[in-house]
Amino acid sequence: MSHITPEALAEAAHRELDAILKKTAPLTPKERIAIPVQDMPTQDPEVRRKNVQEVALGYTPEQARLESMRCLQCRNAPCVQGCPVRIDIPGFLKAAAAGDFLGACAVIKKNSLLPAVCGRVCPQEVQCQEHCTVGKSLKSVDKAVSIGRVERYVADLERDSGKAVSPVIKPATGKKVAVIGSGPASVTVAADVRREGHQVVMFEAFHKPGGVLVYGIPEFRLPKAIVQKEIDALLAMGVEIKTNFVIGRTRKLKALIEEDGFDAVFIGTGAGLPKFMNIEGENLVGVFAANEYLTRANLMKAYDFGRADTPIYRAGRVAILGGGNVAMDAARTAVRLGAAEVHVIYRRTEVEMPARVEEIAHAKEEGVIFHLLENVSRVMGDENGCVKAVECLRYELGEPDASGRRRPVEIKGSEFIRDVEAVIVAIGNDSNPLIPRTTEGLKTTKWGNIIVDETGKTSIDGVYAGGDIVLGAATVILAMGEGRRAAASINERLK
Ligand code: FAD
Ligand code: SF4
Ligand code: SF4
Repeated sequence: MSHITPEALAEAAHRELDAILKKTAPLTPKERIAIPVQDMPTQDPEVRRKNVQEVALGYTPEQARLESMRCLQCRNAPCVQGCPVRIDIPGFLKAAAAGDFLGACAVIKKNSLLPAVCGRVCPQEVQCQEHCTVGKSLKSVDKAVSIGRVERYVADLERDSGKAVSPVIKPATGKKVAVIGSGPASVTVAADVRREGHQVVMFEAFHKPGGVLVYGIPEFRLPKAIVQKEIDALLAMGVEIKTNFVIGRTRKLKALIEEDGFDAVFIGTGAGLPKFMNIEGENLVGVFAANEYLTRANLMKAYDFGRADTPIYRAGRVAILGGGNVAMDAARTAVRLGAAEVHVIYRRTEVEMPARVEEIAHAKEEGVIFHLLENVSRVMGDENGCVKAVECLRYELGEPDASGRRRPVEIKGSEFIRDVEAVIVAIGNDSNPLIPRTTEGLKTTKWGNIIVDETGKTSIDGVYAGGDIVLGAATVILAMGEGRRAAASINERLK
């Protein structure tokens, strides 16, 4: 598909909105459904392959209004049921359709702390937008109201307007809460607990706060300046952030309660432990976990050749193993680091790929090559111990497995060799094990996820947990929802 320029999209929206505003009668449902879906303006794929700037450029005001006008204001609002934090979606779309973008943002902010982030990275097509009546009547989820895009627009506008209202902090209570980790779950807890007047100290293992939002999701999908603004807002609220501080190593969790006087602790340490394939050759030079590769590129700015000190392994041909968002991020990062060929190798078909449809489409536009129904059986090295190829096997789909997806079955004798110089393993992450291992009495599942009750409380009194450390690798909005629940319990406890 050829690239439609942002100027062409803006021009079309301008004309369309002009025509609608000339009408005197309110729009009928039929007229609303007839408004074309507003495509997201993007950088030209040929240009963006060579830079790390954001791919999606955001709506114009006219596009944001038109897209909001597509909403039918359904009385039962099925979209709200699909949003883990239950944003009043028709409410904010109504304000945006009328051009009251700040009012729209205020509606969203009642339930979500990070709308500029969620508007960008939420898997909307399987959350709010999946349930949208407009998408259902047009028989395509792609034609649902683009709730996330409007959310992003109004959040960006509010941030850039300088009119964002700082939350009111209640008088100091003298109570102290430790928040471990600084991803979306922890950011939510810190803000919600601080608002009640409790002192909050956040401990982060890395040198920068933000969790996966800064070290995992690349700049071209989520600009780091946006995350930094949210962190600045926490600091302005009086939250103290201690970076380079690893709980379980720098200080044990129980010491926070027994020696440092914290009245409650929240654990939001995420799922940062990469899984490997456990195949021959995985220890060769040139094999990376996607997390390490992305951390070097994002957090340590390795893409900024010549200016950043971080070394990164640059290879002409790169194989990415996996089919999720992490695999797409690694593949598209490899493109930007100058790889001539990037091969995504995935055992199932595109239908089963867990990555967002939009990310797969963007990766294809940027020249990433997909090899479906294929898997790597070993990594092969040269005389210096560096990757020179992967041995692959072809697969076919069998019966559905426990996840409901059809099981990939290898085709015996189908081995063949694919020449590559780097392999990035992106087959998932497990929970970080350090805190459970160093905290007596903290109960986990057999997969290492911390067990909590319906209030977010762990097996230790005064200790709460949420986000990926509880759910396993999940999503930003689910982590925020968990954070909100745990913060409410902490606030209740400290009343
Ligand atoms: P995290 O964001 O993982 O933050 C945990 C923080 O805790 C980290 O900063 C870590 O350094 C710190 N920490 C760990 N152990 C300790 C310790 N012992 N002491 C102190 N600090 C510690 N979700 C989406 O919704 N959309 C997407 O498009 C998307 N893309 C993704 C792409 C990538 C590459 C990855 C890895 C994930 C993606 N996700 C996406 C998932 C999403 O980012 C996570 O579900 C979410 O960030 C989890 O939030 P969290 O607060 O639980 O933990
Ligand atoms: Fe949809 Fe995510 Fe926004 Fe909820 S937070 S309305 S799921 S984009
Ligand atoms: Fe609007 Fe769709 Fe929600 Fe109905 S389901 S209120 S059309 S966004």
